[in-house]
Amino acid sequence: MKATQFFVSTLKEAPADAEVVSHKLMMRAGMIKRLGAGIYNYMPMGLRVIRKVEKIIREEMDAAGAVECLMPVIQPAELWQETGRFDKMGPELLRVKDRHGRDFIVQPTSEEVITDIARQELRSYRQLPKNFYHIQTKFRDERRPRFGVMRGREFTMKDAYSFDRDVEAAGRSYDNMYQAYCKIFDRLGLQYRAVAADTGAIGGDRSHEFQVIAETGEDAIVYCPTSDYAANIELAEAVALLPSRGEALQPLAKTPTPGKSTCEDVAQLLGLPLSQTVKSLVLATDEQDARGVVAKTQVWLLLVRGDHELNEVKAGKVDGLKGGFRFATVGEIEEHFGCKPGYLGPIGLKQPVKIVADRTVAVMSDFVCGANEADFHLTGVNWGRDLPEPDLVADIRNVVAGDPSPDGQGLLAIQRGIEVGHVFYLGTRYSAAMNATFLDENGKPKLLEMGCYGIGVTRILGAAIEQNHDARGIIWPDAIAPFTVVLCPIGMDRSDEVKVAAETLYGALKALGVDVLLDDRGERPGAMFADWELIGVPHRVVLSDRGLKDGQVEYQGRRDEAAAKLPVGDVVGHLK
Ligand code: ATP
Ligand code: MG
Ligand code: MG
Ligand code: MG
Repeated sequence: MKATQFFVSTLKEAPADAEVVSHKLMMRAGMIKRLGAGIYNYMPMGLRVIRKVEKIIREEMDAAGAVECLMPVIQPAELWQETGRFDKMGPELLRVKDRHGRDFIVQPTSEEVITDIARQELRSYRQLPKNFYHIQTKFRDERRPRFGVMRGREFTMKDAYSFDRDVEAAGRSYDNMYQAYCKIFDRLGLQYRAVAADTGAIGGDRSHEFQVIAETGEDAIVYCPTSDYAANIELAEAVALLPSRGEALQPLAKTPTPGKSTCEDVAQLLGLPLSQTVKSLVLATDEQDARGVVAKTQVWLLLVRGDHELNEVKAGKVDGLKGGFRFATVGEIEEHFGCKPGYLGPIGLKQPVKIVADRTVAVMSDFVCGANEADFHLTGVNWGRDLPEPDLVADIRNVVAGDPSPDGQGLLAIQRGIEVGHVFYLGTRYSAAMNATFLDENGKPKLLEMGCYGIGVTRILGAAIEQNHDARGIIWPDAIAPFTVVLCPIGMDRSDEVKVAAETLYGALKALGVDVLLDDRGERPGAMFADWELIGVPHRVVLSDRGLKDGQVEYQGRRDEAAAKLPVGDVVGHLK
């Protein structure tokens, strides 16, 4: 590629709304252009990186036996109504109507559509296992789109869905994807960690997030340097918090009484800022869990981070006596408490309360919980009423670095991370809701066992930059750089020698399949170097009259302190 043919557009200053370094540098390097909140044009320079990321993902997904398809961005609401997600997902799901007034959604993922395909196409156990994937535009109406492509509203995701005959086979599909993800993130040249995450209503231990280590990450990950233990903070914290209190908990009674209690009332009651009060919700039940295991005492605890929407609320369900733990869905909460989660209001915490870090972990001996349905409000849902307050409070803590690892193998450390991938065992949650069955060896219909596997393609660009940059700009890992090599001829318009040498080298590198760009714009050396350092091309070759007189060029790796002289004839061997 020649620069004059391509599109190079750099900025000296980043726009004011860019908070993190990756966002600033992507804007300055002309990789993206903002169109609206969380909505970006991918400019030619950025698109090259995206395509390289996609290529690596494709190759490894194909190698792992997955098959590519492409599902629509706009999907009929009917399928989403079958699984209940049309109503249950909050405002993050973008709903649109066509000219006939029919409901559609813009896909945030594609479980419904792929399950619809599977129930029509996968009829026999002989067709299993099967794993379909696509790389497609997603839309999530994020409450706080920010950090450029890292938390966009429109973004690109690779999502894959596995179908298996039984739980065991689904486990193999899961492990297979886990391995493929390791290969993908290795090839992308990223420093990452796979951490255990919560499994929602499904239970079990098959959910892992792939987190790119970076100070600016929105997630915190907890790991033990001397063992394999690694979890996201929600999981680590919930596990650490709850069992210790479990034995002391009293079974819950749900005693709804109509009343009135607004967020403001509650905040006032507690003497807390409103923003802190609405961060937590705690509910409890003494009923059996979804798998039919009856536990003597169970507690539902919603740990809500400050910036989460209610539809993302996670509920931790604890069997206090056995120390077991699983998360529950908002849907299950709805079932248990008979009120729409969408209408669940804040809990009013009388005393005591403990606010931990940026999330609120609330402990209380008496509280009111709200279901703000018109004038109706649930109150008096009390938990642990008879317990002495100090005990309850003393046991609540945040997971901190230096705590013993749950596996007993050392002490915990905490790092910040960016979630770039997520593998998740789904069980029969979707196949049951949509009646997706296959016939087993005995001709009996059985529900398909599913898994889903996402990678944030566009988020990877931001994550890679957070990890690889310096004061001058981006330092792309070779595998995903927009160009691997840039040739910078000095005075190409004046000197035939430089021109010929540059064109010859350019041709030779191209013939070898090296992704090379020849900067033929005629920029002054300083401006030219600054551009390519900002854009982050990993290898630079400078050709000048002076050097060529001695048969030499200057080579500089993007991380090198200084340029090194190299005989012209050695460049190809050096770079290929
Ligand atoms: P997050 O916790 O950051 O909101 P998520 O858990 O909601 O992400 P998943 O549903 O697991 O995301 O989707 C799979 C992948 O899609 C994520 O691991 C992430 O890399 C990417 N992703 C999710 N939301 C966004 C977004 N708003 N912008 C860019 N990428 C995203
Ligand atoms: Mg999300
Ligand atoms: Mg997440
Ligand atoms: Mg996730």
